[in-house]
Amino acid sequence: MSDQSGVLYVVATPIGNLDDMTPRAVQILKQVDLIAAEDTRHSGHLLRHFGINTPTYAVHEHNERDQFERLISRLQGGESLALISDAGTPLISDPGFHLVREARKAGVQVTPVPGVSALICALSAAGLPTDRFLFAGFPPRTASRRREWLQVLRGERATLVFYEASHRICASLQDMSEVFGAGREVVVARELSKMFETFLSGDLASVMQQISDDSNQQKGEFVVMLAGAAESDAEIEMAEAERVLRLLLAELPVKQAAALAAKITGQKKNGLYKLALSWQ
Ligand code: SAM
Repeated sequence: MSDQSGVLYVVATPIGNLDDMTPRAVQILKQVDLIAAEDTRHSGHLLRHFGINTPTYAVHEHNERDQFERLISRLQGGESLALISDAGTPLISDPGFHLVREARKAGVQVTPVPGVSALICALSAAGLPTDRFLFAGFPPRTASRRREWLQVLRGERATLVFYEASHRICASLQDMSEVFGAGREVVVARELSKMFETFLSGDLASVMQQISDDSNQQKGEFVVMLAGAAESDAEIEMAEAERVLRLLLAELPVKQAAALAAKITGQKKNGLYKLALSWQ
């Protein structure tokens, strides 16, 4: 890297409450030569609010390679740039990865300007273990791909963190319940730092019920956090029995399905029978 190189600042912005913007973020955004933004129109509101007049440039994951190269040669020429996304921390389920990677490869200094991220904000107040967590981002949109994708996380011991859109929250929770078992502890954080901020917690069955009973709880932005798999394998085994039972119920009467599921999984027939009846 030449001594003349500028700095690429990766700047976090609020996820709902403009008061969460840090003074340092404002100062950096005012001082750089260019702001690379996910959506220049969207960010216009934030920048105007803080009296930031720096020119903006639209950068998304699909930008052509030569556009990144142009930005990097500006950095190498001594200009400083700030990267922002529509909300929260860039690169966290947001664009910027390729730009940051290419900048680092080119020897440009990349510096984070820390602030909010919905996943950390949600975890900090959820009351689930945070010593180990796995951020999985957005689940796939289609049910069949989503279930397969969730299966891979079934035995994971760490707390699981997902982002989800309002129009898929019910379907995703339903799939989580099928894959992890309806008894798995979940916390759903909605509209963090905004007027209708809500945390719902309990087992998947009860939280799903609360959300499906109240259409207001289906609106806004969501972070879904699931307790990791239990230390014992009992919960994993029960979740597997539930999955088998659901498959069999699609083809067989309740009694037969419960008996067969019990044979396959080693769980108690009576318990599976009662569970199947509760789903009817
Ligand atoms: N870069 C952002 C961050 O650092 O959190 C995430 C951007 S991602 C495209 C948007 C998703 O983040 C939303 O669909 C939602 O899952 C989550 N999210 C963002 N803001 C949120 C908020 N205020 N409350 C709850 N979830 C939020």
